[in-house]
Amino acid sequence: MPELPEVQTTIDGITPYLINKTILKCTISVKKLRWELQKDIAKKIVNIKITGITRRAKYIIISGENLYLTIHLGMTGTLRIANRNELKKKHDHFEMQLDSKVILRFNDPRKFGMIFYSTESPLLTNRLFLNLGPEPLSKDFSAAYLYKASKNRNVAIKSLLMNSKIVVGIGNIYASESLFLSKIRPDKISKKLTKKNCEDLVTSIKKVLKSAIKKGGSSINDYINVDGKSGYFQYDFKVYGRTAKPCHICQSDILQIKINQRSSFYCKKCQR
Ligand SMILES: [Zn+2]
Repeated sequence: MPELPEVQTTIDGITPYLINKTILKCTISVKKLRWELQKDIAKKIVNIKITGITRRAKYIIISGENLYLTIHLGMTGTLRIANRNELKKKHDHFEMQLDSKVILRFNDPRKFGMIFYSTESPLLTNRLFLNLGPEPLSKDFSAAYLYKASKNRNVAIKSLLMNSKIVVGIGNIYASESLFLSKIRPDKISKKLTKKNCEDLVTSIKKVLKSAIKKGGSSINDYINVDGKSGYFQYDFKVYGRTAKPCHICQSDILQIKINQRSSFYCKKCQR
């Protein structure tokens, strides 16, 4: 599943091709992704000049005059820039041709992605964006904030980190990696976190996410960069997906447990 770094990498990759460009044509070959697509979406976005591309949580928001196109990659979605003469690939469901002669294509084999337009900013009006916690890379996500948010909570810290009302964009992979880096067990009860734990955790989360963004995103095997190359951050994982492999620090076996139905990986010796 694309996580925050992949989404940010996608935005960084597509932005130079889209900004200040006008959408000439939009072609859609499915009726439904996660939800049914708006019937007039193609008509609405044609002739719009793109002036902004931003991210909130894992949503990509492409905006122009009085128009916002929101895209979520879902489980298997990717956006890539193609040349006008490049043939469509299987699962290319949505594309927009720009006056710069390139095409932005949305590919999504499992169709859990979302694409919708709105005339007002979805950040202010769409229910998907209400009640979202701060961005993990923003100043609002601080040790003091996390300490306050974790107090009186009886849930495992890993679940708390993956709760978008607390903080957005931290998925299974980066939660596991950040907890290892902070030497905190993923199943530690949130309210038992010390101020020092929160400081370490916030620092680790920012470090892990920034490093992943810098390396070009990613995580899953089928993740593809906008230029068609596969992401390679997966090779750097310290605990994620490394069940029974030796811990990089102490050589103990990495353990796998389920927390809130999600696989979690940790080192019993290094993480307390
Ligand atoms: Zn260890």
